[in-house]
Amino acid sequence: MSLENLVEVSRYYGKNPDYVLAGGGNTSWKDGDLLYVKASGMALADVESASFVKMDRKALAKIWGKNYPAEAAERESAVLADMMAARLPGEDQKRPSVEALLHDIMPFTFVVHLHPAKINGLTCSRMGEAAMKNIFGDEAIWIPSTNPGYILSKTVKTAMDDYYTRMNKNVAIIFLQNHGVFVGADTVEHIKELYSGIMSNIALHIQREPCFSDEKRESNELSKLFAELGGEMAIFAYGGEVAALVKDCSSFKPVSSVFTPDHIVYAGSDPLFVEETDIRQGWENHVRKTGRDPKIAAVRGRGICGIGITEKAATLALDLFRDSIKVAVYSEPFGGPCFMTADKIDFINNWEVERFRSNVSGK
Ligand SMILES: [Zn+2]
Repeated sequence: MSLENLVEVSRYYGKNPDYVLAGGGNTSWKDGDLLYVKASGMALADVESASFVKMDRKALAKIWGKNYPAEAAERESAVLADMMAARLPGEDQKRPSVEALLHDIMPFTFVVHLHPAKINGLTCSRMGEAAMKNIFGDEAIWIPSTNPGYILSKTVKTAMDDYYTRMNKNVAIIFLQNHGVFVGADTVEHIKELYSGIMSNIALHIQREPCFSDEKRESNELSKLFAELGGEMAIFAYGGEVAALVKDCSSFKPVSSVFTPDHIVYAGSDPLFVEETDIRQGWENHVRKTGRDPKIAAVRGRGICGIGITEKAATLALDLFRDSIKVAVYSEPFGGPCFMTADKIDFINNWEVERFRSNVSGK
């Protein structure tokens, strides 16, 4: 078992759009007291051995014995400082993924954390927890929607310890509501077996595959208007699943909010739905209500616009919104879509602002 295995399994999933979109997901390998975890800002498809941050597991373990401030922002920055200090000398140019603590506490040689649409059809559905128990029995656990960072790691740690007490073994599959899944194993082959098992077990319940083969993307008068209103670039998508969703306000409901933090990062938390005759006013009202420019705007009877400061950002907004459409469809057998709650959405939006500030200031 080696770092090469970690690179291989990371690229294997990173290159498969059924498992990974954009910079989503992260992976790790444990070598005694060392944790190699994917650095943030790196796509799994492109990783090399140097893309992983080497961390001291003894220093990470000390985090659990410390007391941190109760206030969320203070607490998260204190934990982040301790995580940064757990990097080995020479690693200070890399930032460990915010989920590094979760990787460390799962007692398996390899941990692969992903947000596949099929799996999120389960984690973002109204009856997800009951369906998970029905499908996976005692082979997996369910973590209710939790803000990312220290609190999520602590919640998972408690649930893992409970599982160990109950089952006398370590849990290898952890479903995170409105987020994704963590899978741990001591070999890469076993990781792949577990993921295939999860995907095929969920697939048995799925009644319908969303169809994007006749979706088209273009620049048109609507994308020009949205580019002017909200960013440098806008790309218009229409046809396929999109056509059915934009028929009217109620057909848009299954995708009218947001499923996971990853979707917020790329496609925003508040898609706009407007009439073609009312775009400017609808936009202004929406911005006043949410405090943010939407990254996705749906025009009734026409299609959907992805909006961003670059073409790449606008494309990613559309790609991630397409992923939301898949999640909504895959959630159908499990009681239908369940969005993130408003407080969780606010936490991510504020957190993104903080992260942006820290990037800008070079911290
Ligand atoms: Zn994640």
